[in-house]
Amino acid sequence: MSPPDPPRPGAPAHLRTRLRRVFRTVRARVLTAVLAATALGLAVAGVVSHAVQEDVARARIDRSLDQEVAELRELAANGYDGVRFASVAELLRASIRNDLPDANESAVGIVVGGQTYAPATRPFELEDSPRVRELAAAVTPDAAPVRETVETAAGSTRIVAVPVSLPGGAPGEPVLGLYVVGHAVEPELRAVADNARTFAVVALGALLAVAAVAWLVTARLLRPLDDLHATAVAVGAADLSRRVPVHGDDDVADVARSFNEMLERLEESFATQRRFLDDAGHELRTPLTIVQGHLELVDVADARDVTETRALVLDELDRMTRLVDDLTLLAKAHQPNFVALRPVDAGQLLDEAFDKVVPLGERRWRVDARADAEVVADPQRVQQALIQLVSNAVKFSGPGDLVALGSAVHGRDLLLWVRDSGPGIAPEDVERIFERFGRAETGRGVEGSGLGLAIVSAIAEAHGGRVDVASLPGAGATFTLVLPLRPVDAEGPAADADVVVAGGAA
Ligand code: ADP
Repeated sequence: MSPPDPPRPGAPAHLRTRLRRVFRTVRARVLTAVLAATALGLAVAGVVSHAVQEDVARARIDRSLDQEVAELRELAANGYDGVRFASVAELLRASIRNDLPDANESAVGIVVGGQTYAPATRPFELEDSPRVRELAAAVTPDAAPVRETVETAAGSTRIVAVPVSLPGGAPGEPVLGLYVVGHAVEPELRAVADNARTFAVVALGALLAVAAVAWLVTARLLRPLDDLHATAVAVGAADLSRRVPVHGDDDVADVARSFNEMLERLEESFATQRRFLDDAGHELRTPLTIVQGHLELVDVADARDVTETRALVLDELDRMTRLVDDLTLLAKAHQPNFVALRPVDAGQLLDEAFDKVVPLGERRWRVDARADAEVVADPQRVQQALIQLVSNAVKFSGPGDLVALGSAVHGRDLLLWVRDSGPGIAPEDVERIFERFGRAETGRGVEGSGLGLAIVSAIAEAHGGRVDVASLPGAGATFTLVLPLRPVDAEGPAADADVVVAGGAA
């Protein structure tokens, strides 16, 4: 018996997996980032604002103490109602009476060696503080005012202690005193702390509001991605007809649109591939059936029958090989390396093709025109196309008929044509003959696969060009390869360099 699984710490595994999945979503990540940034911003704002408010509160306390000192000095210098004070005791008493302390403020006037004067009501007593008593004991006539923070019954208290002296007082009168004003700091800071608490509550509310808005907005923004995901999952090679719903006109909608376009191209390419396979299977089945039929019926005892069947089977196999070669070539036609473009001499291209095709049949051979130009092309593929066009011309014409080749520059194109005086092509057949396995009335009874013109067309398209046909039934046909002198794809720096070298050598 196997030992039981050890208990796992923390949350159960399935819950952890679920949580991990939730936190891996873009929505959760966006939300986390937005909340973290907002929280950080609010925290920095809160801390800075709290520090500033505290500084402002302390400065206000100091200003209010300064005000008290200024008032005392004014009294000492100018007296009250124009009458100067005769004694320190009088001055301190008047000053205390004059003073209207606010709720957190207290004052005391101490005559050295004499009485202590204080307002009738005050929130706390300053003379209780040992530090205040110490300052009073140590006061000298020309000491500077002391400003510091001391502990009193009201807690931390900011005080200013101003020495007072009136020389020339009555004999025996004390001439030194200390006027102390204190402001309790804590009540002021409590107000600042209250503000901070209010800010924290508001900030938390704002954070929750941001979270709710971000949650809704991300859901809305990411919905197209969910649609994209669902469509991508649903689409298979068997069914490429699904499309993503496109909402609005923003960049996310662009993604959905591009995705749909991609699906369209894929669907088309799959359909082309399927048609290609259907066509190829159909065309290959005929020779296979012929071969099988003959082999089944051959009389192996009859040497003549065997020889004839062998020749026929070899002939059919030959046809199949050509068919397979042509199909392979067509399948390759959309690959980027189907043509190897380079600058070539158009005149030479025509000459070489002409030399190769003349032995194809007893015809009246002619060169209509010969362009002396340079074209960026794949000479092998262009010759292959010309030879295909000439072999058609020969195939569909008779001995003594005219077959002419020609080339000319027209605008930015090179025209290469093959002209014959054969039966021509009916206008309604013109489109069909360029399709794979497409044949016209003229093709009937003439051997062929119907792939020749499809290959010529593919070669022209790989050069960025096309094939034109001009024909009248009974009056021959002219097939023209229209090739750009410089295909757009070849107009990169490499092609430029090639052309410059070729031009320089000429
Ligand atoms: P194939 O020659 O094997 O039938 P192609 O694709 O070369 O296949 O040609 C397709 C069809 O176009 C031919 O079957 C024929 O009907 C027609 N055709 C092509 N070239 C000529 C031509 N020079 N004159 C008359 N008809 C032509």
